[in-house]
Amino acid sequence: MALLDRSEWYGLARETNWTPRYVAENELFPADLSDPYGLPMKAWEAFDEPYKVSYREYVKVQREKDANAYSVKAALSRSKFYDSADEGYLSLLKLHYGAVSLTEYQACQAQGRMSRFSKAPGMRNTSTFGMMDEMRHTQLQLFFPHELVTRDRQFDWAHEATHTKNWAVLGGRHCMDDIMMTRDAITTSIMLSFAFETGLTNLQMVGLAADSEAIGDFTFSNMITSIQSDEARHAQLGTPSIEILIKNGKKAEAQKALDISFWRVWRLFAILTGIPMDYYIPLEKRHMSFKEFMHEWVIKQFVRQLNDIGLEKPWYWDMFLDDIENHHHCQQGGIWSWRPTVWWNPPGAVGPKEREWLEKKYPGWNDSYGRYWDVIIGNLLDGHEEKTHPNCIPVICNMCQIPVSNRPGPKWKARVYQLDYKEKRYNFCTPVCKWIFEQEPERYKDFETIVDRMYSGVIDPPTLPNVLTYMGIGVVSNGGRDGYDYSWINGYRKQAAE
Ligand code: MN
Ligand code: MN
Repeated sequence: MALLDRSEWYGLARETNWTPRYVAENELFPADLSDPYGLPMKAWEAFDEPYKVSYREYVKVQREKDANAYSVKAALSRSKFYDSADEGYLSLLKLHYGAVSLTEYQACQAQGRMSRFSKAPGMRNTSTFGMMDEMRHTQLQLFFPHELVTRDRQFDWAHEATHTKNWAVLGGRHCMDDIMMTRDAITTSIMLSFAFETGLTNLQMVGLAADSEAIGDFTFSNMITSIQSDEARHAQLGTPSIEILIKNGKKAEAQKALDISFWRVWRLFAILTGIPMDYYIPLEKRHMSFKEFMHEWVIKQFVRQLNDIGLEKPWYWDMFLDDIENHHHCQQGGIWSWRPTVWWNPPGAVGPKEREWLEKKYPGWNDSYGRYWDVIIGNLLDGHEEKTHPNCIPVICNMCQIPVSNRPGPKWKARVYQLDYKEKRYNFCTPVCKWIFEQEPERYKDFETIVDRMYSGVIDPPTLPNVLTYMGIGVVSNGGRDGYDYSWINGYRKQAAE
């Protein structure tokens, strides 16, 4: 059979729409799942993604990518890399796999919603590939850590995290449910494809691949590069959606979807990326600080993309810039202090040399975050490890589900932003999290934070062992300990002796 040239059939195949006869258009594309902005079918037919691919090409390329990733893994599986790997780096891997593996599967469902419910044929086509991409990412990131489970049960969180009620998982799921599991096709393309993938993860993966290569973990680095190459393609789903909305008088709506989702993802992203970059990766292997990475990669590129597309920087931009200097430092302190509640072994990793580096990269670090660690270091030097475990329960933000905190020391910027709604008081970490809640209180009001659950009878009685079991600790694996078994304080011991 003679084959047509790609150019002869491609446009027709990806632009095909039809007029439904058996059901009404709004039954085929219900607004809540499809397009709540009410644009006509014709407007969506203008959807034009820049990077085009046919199914035949897609399958060929994906097969090659998979063969490459799996064969590198097979070739290196006898190397003893993971036996002698730095525990800080292993923590990066455990955190990554626990947070990401099944989130990819959720992303697959989000892409599936776009494939079925978008009125734009080009978008349905691209998200079909996106759906298969995300399935591949799920498979890779479930399979790769699997061989590590026998050596360290904490790697089992790649499979299990999403099925637990660990506080960090609740935070991640609250965000992902909000931006990609419970929105219509068009809003999902803004929140997931543009804010999350274009704005943050696509670039983060480039950095993550470079970091793991510098460490010598070519298996992981290669896998991430393979995934990133898919992300770069399907992340383009958001741009044409936004262009069409703007052209049809819906700029404010597109801007709001961006503002909500960029902040939501940022709050998680800083933990997932900022902490490992500035604390978990051994000092001599760090290629740049998280702040430098954010300014050079994310901010510069994202602002340019916003300009190109015709949107504005989110209204909270100044707060975002300030959060880059603070949020992940706070959470490093918090996660380390509550280390038994997580599934990785966070290293304190603030020895004298590391502090010098932190002060250089974040002027003022010693006079703020340093003071928090001074107390911990003092207790460890005095042989009072037990005093480094807090007895209190943090206040959790009712939006991001992350403990409320901000810069310590003389500036003391930690505040709780409160809102009373229908006889309940809600606490927020920042004006932005509060603003998101105010946009749609009914959407968020019934969700109980992990701390709410201790007081509402869900975790009963709320003793420490019960709380840990509820969070999957001691069930899936043991909880965390200091990744370096406190060896990072040796530098202070030496200083004291001198
Ligand atoms: Mn993915
Ligand atoms: Mn993706």
